[in-house]
Amino acid sequence: MVNIILLGPPGAGKGTQAKRLVDERAMVQLSTGDMLREAKSSGTEMGRRVADVMARGQLVTDDIVIGLIEEKIGQGAGGGFIFDGFPRTLKQADALAALLQKTGQTLDAVVEMQVDDAALVARITGRFTCGKCGEVYHDKTRPTKVSGTCDVCGSHDLKRRADDNEDALKTRLMEYYKKTSPLIGYYYAKNQLSTVDGLAEMDSVAAAISKILDKT
Ligand code: AMP
Repeated sequence: MVNIILLGPPGAGKGTQAKRLVDERAMVQLSTGDMLREAKSSGTEMGRRVADVMARGQLVTDDIVIGLIEEKIGQGAGGGFIFDGFPRTLKQADALAALLQKTGQTLDAVVEMQVDDAALVARITGRFTCGKCGEVYHDKTRPTKVSGTCDVCGSHDLKRRADDNEDALKTRLMEYYKKTSPLIGYYYAKNQLSTVDGLAEMDSVAAAISKILDKT
C-alpha cells in the first residue's frame, strides 16, 4: 500500500493520472475539488458557501478541505490513497502529515507534474468530462469518438467546469504559484519529492509515475 500526492498546477493532468492509478492499482482517489463540486451540486450548506470562491478560481479555506480529507482517511485504503489537489497550502500539508501520523499511515511519495503555463491554458480551456464516470476529454487533443457520447460508459452527460475559463484560470494559476508551489520546496526538503514531465504523452507520464511508486 502506498499513499501519494500528485502535485501540480491546474491542468497538469493530476485527475487523469489519478484515475489510471485507481484502475491499475486499486488505489483510492481523494480529490478535494471533486468533493467540493459534489457538495455544491448536492446543495449542502458548505457547498453553497464555497461555490463563488471556486467559480472565481480562489482557494477555499484550509479548515474546510482539511475536514473533508479527515473524514476519508480514517481507516486507510487497500491500495493506498492518491491525494489529488490536496494539499494546496503549507497549512494543509502540515495537517495531512499530522492526520497520517495519527492514523498510523505514511506518505510514500510526492509526484510533481511539471508543465508550462502556455500548455495549461490550452489544456484547460478545451477540457470536458463525463458526468457519470469522470473520464476526461479535450476538444482538440482527446475528443469523444461519437460527438456528445462518453467513449467509456456511453453517457451523454458531458460537462464543462464553471472554472475552466480563461479568467478563473488566471486566478487559479496565481493561487497555485503563491500558495501551492512552496510545497515543492517543502517536500524536497523532506526528501519525498519526485518530478515527472507532465507534458509527455499520457502513457509515458503514467509509466514515469509507476516507476516512482515501484521504488517506494
Ligand atoms: P480542482 O478540481 O482540484 O482544480 O479544484 C477546484 C477548486 O476547488 C479550486 O480552484 C479551489 O477553489 C477548490 N479546491 C480544491 N482543492 C482545494 C484545496 N486543497 N484547498 C483549497 N481549495 C481547494
